[in-house]
Amino acid sequence: MNKNVKIEKQNNRCELLIPAGNLQTLKVAVDYGADAVYIGGQRFGLRAKADNFSIEDMKEAADYVHKAGKKLYVTVNIFAHNADIEGIKGYFTEIKEAGLEEGIDAFIISDPGIFTLAKKMLPGIDIHISTQANNTNYLIYNFWYEQGATRVVAARELSLHEIKEIKANIPEDMEIEAFMHGAMCISYSGRCLLSSYFTGRDANKGACTHPCRWKYAIVEEQRPGEYLPIEEDERGTYIFNSKDLCMIEYIPEMIDAGIDSFKVEGRMKTALYVAAVTRTYRQAIDDYYKSEELYRSRMDYYREEISACTYRQFTTGFYFGKTDENSQIYDNNTYIKNYTYIGMVEACDDIGMIKTENDSVRIMLYQKNKFVIGDKVCVMAFDGENIDAVVTGIEDEYHTPQESAPHPKQKLYVTLSCEKPDRIKEGMIIRS
Ligand code: SF4
Repeated sequence: MNKNVKIEKQNNRCELLIPAGNLQTLKVAVDYGADAVYIGGQRFGLRAKADNFSIEDMKEAADYVHKAGKKLYVTVNIFAHNADIEGIKGYFTEIKEAGLEEGIDAFIISDPGIFTLAKKMLPGIDIHISTQANNTNYLIYNFWYEQGATRVVAARELSLHEIKEIKANIPEDMEIEAFMHGAMCISYSGRCLLSSYFTGRDANKGACTHPCRWKYAIVEEQRPGEYLPIEEDERGTYIFNSKDLCMIEYIPEMIDAGIDSFKVEGRMKTALYVAAVTRTYRQAIDDYYKSEELYRSRMDYYREEISACTYRQFTTGFYFGKTDENSQIYDNNTYIKNYTYIGMVEACDDIGMIKTENDSVRIMLYQKNKFVIGDKVCVMAFDGENIDAVVTGIEDEYHTPQESAPHPKQKLYVTLSCEKPDRIKEGMIIRS
């Protein structure tokens, strides 16, 4: 947990900031090219349904991240009520006693009260101001700078033009973080009461049940049970259902706006999603810094790879002005899904990575989705290559051969036949 192993922005390069809901996805994010990872503790982090990190997990996360020369940020971005205060004090005490003041590079905080508490109890940890705090103008950024914050996360409702104006009106060492990719709230920067109203679960305390994705219809007061469709589609309409943000085609514009950190949304996403999004944005950013021509020439590859994970349809959000009727999906709430997550090549010296023949490799994985002998799969190399392979053998944990792998989470030994078996490494994601 050596915070001195911080990466500095080389040649003023932007940071790629990836979410992780558990240790496995954190490692995937780091291995596939994140510059920094943000996580939540088990309380106060606005994603109650993610696995989240215990204090012990956070220590392991900090070690892993810092060994790779990356950074670790921890969200404490609820809006606290009086009843939360003692718990937050206890949480900060636990962090201090665990030695994590050295392991956490920054807290992401929205509540000024929690900000004050963190500064007092853990002065060694930087503070970034969460997007939840509605950071819409440069006076707000300057206010937080004067309080001692080192970074502010832009409100999602800002255009790139507005962000550029903010950059021109804040101190040079004040950083701006902005969302690059992921789900959008229909409500103002996530300050939303829909979930609280319908289910009693408060989005502002991390318990959102996503009612904006539900199907709605109009009901006339005197005709209960008769649901009148709002659109011509007779199944109703998803009037609150926003498309997902995707700015892969606008990296030059994001850099030109003065954004220091490109943030991906999604602490509850799968390892496959994290791997695909991290790897693609890593490549796109690096390609752009090499040459704009290279970046433009690989656009089809980026689009295809980004589409390889689950997603809704895409939008550029508010970045080029106000959203319109095309920013939402009215007729369904289903995800488009192109690839299936088979599993991850697990690290294990004595049983994994046994090379069987020149053109095959035997690995160990925990099954994520069903596959059978003969299936064509793809191993996602860290550097962007997709290694095609065929499943030629499956054994259970007692080495009994089987034809298929139908059981979720089952430990399996799998033989993959491919042209480049030496390229397959521990930690790589396999999809079909
Ligand atoms: S219900 Fe939808 S808009 Fe509201 S906080 Fe949850 S995800 Fe965001």
